[in-house]
Amino acid sequence: MTKSTAKVCTNGILLAGNWKMNFGKKETLQFLEALRIAPQLNAQMRLYIPFLSLESARNFSEVNSLPLQIGAQNISGEKSGAFTGEVSASMLQEIGIEHALVGHSERRQFFGETNESVLKRTVGALTQGMEVLVCIGETLTERNADQTEAILSTQLKLLLADTVCKEAFGKKLHVAYEPVWAIGTGVTASPEQAETAHSFIRAQMTEKLGYSIANATRILYGGSVTPANFKELLACPNIDGGLVGGASLKIESWTQLWNLIEA
Ligand code: PEP
Repeated sequence: MTKSTAKVCTNGILLAGNWKMNFGKKETLQFLEALRIAPQLNAQMRLYIPFLSLESARNFSEVNSLPLQIGAQNISGEKSGAFTGEVSASMLQEIGIEHALVGHSERRQFFGETNESVLKRTVGALTQGMEVLVCIGETLTERNADQTEAILSTQLKLLLADTVCKEAFGKKLHVAYEPVWAIGTGVTASPEQAETAHSFIRAQMTEKLGYSIANATRILYGGSVTPANFKELLACPNIDGGLVGGASLKIESWTQLWNLIEA
């Protein structure tokens, strides 16, 4: 699958980086100072970075007119109160942050996030006016047991049934398909495997929300994306960009990924 195919999604491409627990404020600003990127007509760049650097990164980006959005890697579903260690939407908005990642597999694996808590965070964030990228994806055991579609369907179910989410899909709510076995492993889903999962996700959305919302919703692929495999993945009709870990931490690979979008 190397030939570029027309996109199903009408909303353009999103290249999103997930820095995980990497880079403090100093390294963040060094990265942004070194970033040389031109805006693209039909694509957006976004970096989900640690909480502590959000404000300076966002300010740097704005002052230097970078074509770059800055987002948080997690967000509370609650407005305020006794939730130690959590960060609310209004705190993020006060420093100009409008984007949050929710339900990354590392949050699910290491911090006990469930489909229910992912829903709660997503709904809370949307209600407060944030834009959310929600992550779903199967483990290797689940794929090997032929459960990929069942798992994706379960992970989507609560979101597709919720009134706030239904209203936000395709506008302020988008999806990242990240097979857990491909995250940080160097093993990428083949374009065929990824496209099959993405078109299944789109079909689930179409069934519950109708064509126009489903086709307005970006479905990003994440899992060992590099400049060597991104173009082929991006050529798939239902892949609307990438959520990138490792390759977003190096200026060279991150810039290459961006330049591959229109190339
Ligand atoms: C991720 O962190 O969401 C991710 C996909 O990481 P990597 O690109 O390193 O596999």
